[in-house]
Amino acid sequence: MAVQSGCDGVEINAGQYSLVRQFLSGLTNQRSDQWGGDRRLFLTQVLTAVRSAIGPEKLLAVRLSCDELAPWAGITPEQAPELAAEIAHEPQEGPIDLLTVVRGSIYSVSATRPGGHTPPGFNLELSRAVREQVRLATSNRVAVAVQGSIVDVAQAEWALTDGIADAVEMTRAQISDAQLVSKLRSGTAARIRPCTLSNQKSQVRDNRNPIVTALGDPLSGYETKDAPPETAAAHRVELTVVGGGPGGLEAARVAAIRGHQVRLFEASDSFGGMVRVAAKGPGWDRLALLVDWLEAECRIEGVELINNHRVTPGELNGHVIVAVGGREGLRAYEQQPGSVVRTAAEALDDPESLPQGAVLIWDPIGGPIGVALAELLAERGVEVHIATQDNIVGNELARSGDLAPANARLLQAGVHLHPRMLLRSVSAEGATLEDRFSAQRQELPVAVVIDAGHRLPNDALGLELADVARVQASSVGDCVAPRTIYEAILEGRRAAIALG
Ligand code: SF4
Repeated sequence: MAVQSGCDGVEINAGQYSLVRQFLSGLTNQRSDQWGGDRRLFLTQVLTAVRSAIGPEKLLAVRLSCDELAPWAGITPEQAPELAAEIAHEPQEGPIDLLTVVRGSIYSVSATRPGGHTPPGFNLELSRAVREQVRLATSNRVAVAVQGSIVDVAQAEWALTDGIADAVEMTRAQISDAQLVSKLRSGTAARIRPCTLSNQKSQVRDNRNPIVTALGDPLSGYETKDAPPETAAAHRVELTVVGGGPGGLEAARVAAIRGHQVRLFEASDSFGGMVRVAAKGPGWDRLALLVDWLEAECRIEGVELINNHRVTPGELNGHVIVAVGGREGLRAYEQQPGSVVRTAAEALDDPESLPQGAVLIWDPIGGPIGVALAELLAERGVEVHIATQDNIVGNELARSGDLAPANARLLQAGVHLHPRMLLRSVSAEGATLEDRFSAQRQELPVAVVIDAGHRLPNDALGLELADVARVQASSVGDCVAPRTIYEAILEGRRAAIALG
């Protein structure tokens, strides 16, 4: 059917989520009949049947888990090259054409497309070993492809030129920038929008089945619904953007591409807003690449970027987009004299400034910030406690597939987890937690509490401008309602398009 539909070939999945892998692996194949006696038998028969169905001219590929991350019984990196060579050589009806190296098994659901805590290109050396054996066994006839968080063109090129693989899969890289190939071909690789490896909008095995899109490009996945923002506006206007976080930068970038004259004011000395702070958390450093890219694109498109300038309403006229970010949230706990409470942003930005001693992170959100902060401080040798009202720490990380890995990392780092707790008060001696169900209280002797809780909208400037007749203002991002980078970029883009 695939060939009749016009496909050039068929790939058989013997990767993480596949029945074929279950037959290949000692982890799951414990049969005592011929299917267990020869674990490759099932795959061999599948390949033979598929080859006979598609004929000799079409491509036949295998996606093979070469490291099940379960060395006690699974396929290991040491066994994989020989196994791959046997598979590449085996089918009686004609060999396969392509073998793609992947990793993971039932015990490692997050290993196939991990986030930023796993270095990009984690399968490269495994692929090199597999390719060597496959080429030997098939006289160079079968090509080997590699994947595994390869999101940078330079790394992909190195894999091709250094004998690691004959082809490279770049999935998230092209979700993040659908123009990756054309930019590469036209010699503008430096303008490729980077993938942050956040997994925040491109998670595929999510039972809510959301549309796969990209943190930095809300058009991705919505190509049939939304027009590309890079079309010329009907009328040129002068636009002032207030705030240089992701929402403001995206608004300025898109407005400039559409032909408007744009200047952007940022109160601090750098552009990127809270994203720069979040990028200081372990595993989140690639977030900075996205705001670097937005800033660079603004400059290329001719946006006048002005930092260290806090704009007053009197300086504004004409079209204005307000993107000043959120403000500190309310503290629903008692703060006694002598207590020390810091915000998560303050602690991430300058961990040196925290008082000596144990730390409690109060994380009612359960997102990446509280967990990243706990990891950062634990790395620095601080005794770290993290408390949340949820049944599990980092509850929201389930959306990006990082929930279980994050909890494992926290425990490995010696972080003390306090789920199902409410923070009731902070004093000079420490913090009082209360069990959400039993109301039992616990005193925690800590030197400082770091509040990683909800922030609030910052609508002061937007409201003030609403009464100024000479200004047509709109607000985007966290100053409307603190959410994620994605919403800030989406709203910044929409506000720029709405200019006409
Ligand atoms: S959501 Fe994150 S990981 Fe997914 S494509 Fe976008 S930047 Fe990359």
